[in-house]
Amino acid sequence: MNLTINNLSKTYSNGVRALENVSLTIPSGLFGLLGPNGAGKSTLMRTIATLQEADDGDIWLDDLNILEQKHDLKQILGYLPQEFGFYPKDRAMDLMDHLNLLKGISNKRERAQMVEYILKKVNLWEARKQRIGTFSGGMKQRFGIAQALLGNPKLLIVDEPTAGLDPYERRRFHNLLAEIGRDIIVILSTHIVDDVSNLCTNMAIIDKGRILLQTVPGEIISEFENKIWEMDATGIDMETFSENYHVISTRLFAGKTIVRIYSGSNPGDDFLAVEPILEDVYFYTLSTRS
Ligand code: ADP
Repeated sequence: MNLTINNLSKTYSNGVRALENVSLTIPSGLFGLLGPNGAGKSTLMRTIATLQEADDGDIWLDDLNILEQKHDLKQILGYLPQEFGFYPKDRAMDLMDHLNLLKGISNKRERAQMVEYILKKVNLWEARKQRIGTFSGGMKQRFGIAQALLGNPKLLIVDEPTAGLDPYERRRFHNLLAEIGRDIIVILSTHIVDDVSNLCTNMAIIDKGRILLQTVPGEIISEFENKIWEMDATGIDMETFSENYHVISTRLFAGKTIVRIYSGSNPGDDFLAVEPILEDVYFYTLSTRS
């Protein structure tokens, strides 16, 4: 199964060009859409979910024309929006049952079976009688996935799902997405590079409404071998330094300022060649956009 996006564009009424000629091919598995805040990720996610209209372009799930056949898409789409509203006083199981009814499952036993199956899958079966308002951030996000899994979607869209989760909850959430991504297309929109490097088999980088790169994380990282260098730049004037080198990032480590640069050849004795990571690819790509 493939999701194919062709030349999608969207300009809001205030003149912001949120999507500019976006084309992507997204196969089964976990796909990471990585970009800074305001890049256009949510606009793209909402457009694929047919919650808003594009000005131009089309989207296909195999031979289903999504923007034309919205009803058919709804049958196979699961969506966890950035802001997921729920009724805090509802108990997890009751709300799932209700949402399942809204999905059109009228048989009570069938609904109960599906709710049990999904709540177990997202590890919330034990908490099924708990009010959702008492859930932790991670539990809420897993509940968000649970509701998105109702109706067995073939395409699951999750928009910025790990923002605000602690490391333990994040890892748990990653494991859940990885499991789901074995069978269907999962699009994970995020500004967190680690979400993509840990999870995704395919990815794209988006900024200012444009796709800057579509790639496979492992492959692109190996293209950066021998091109990333580090130096202790404590006390150095960064403005002058940046004029001479292609700075990718700086970080503090044990009170020192460590600078990472991109260079195709050895930049000098003060530098140490280091293993590239996806963050290098991300910052490099953002810094070289035309
Ligand atoms: P992201 O999800 O990557 O943070 P968004 O798709 O939310 O990006 O936003 C892309 C751009 O479109 C931003 O500049 C944002 O301010 C603008 N934008 C988003 N929604 C609207 C809207 N409803 N009306 C006008 N501008 C919007």
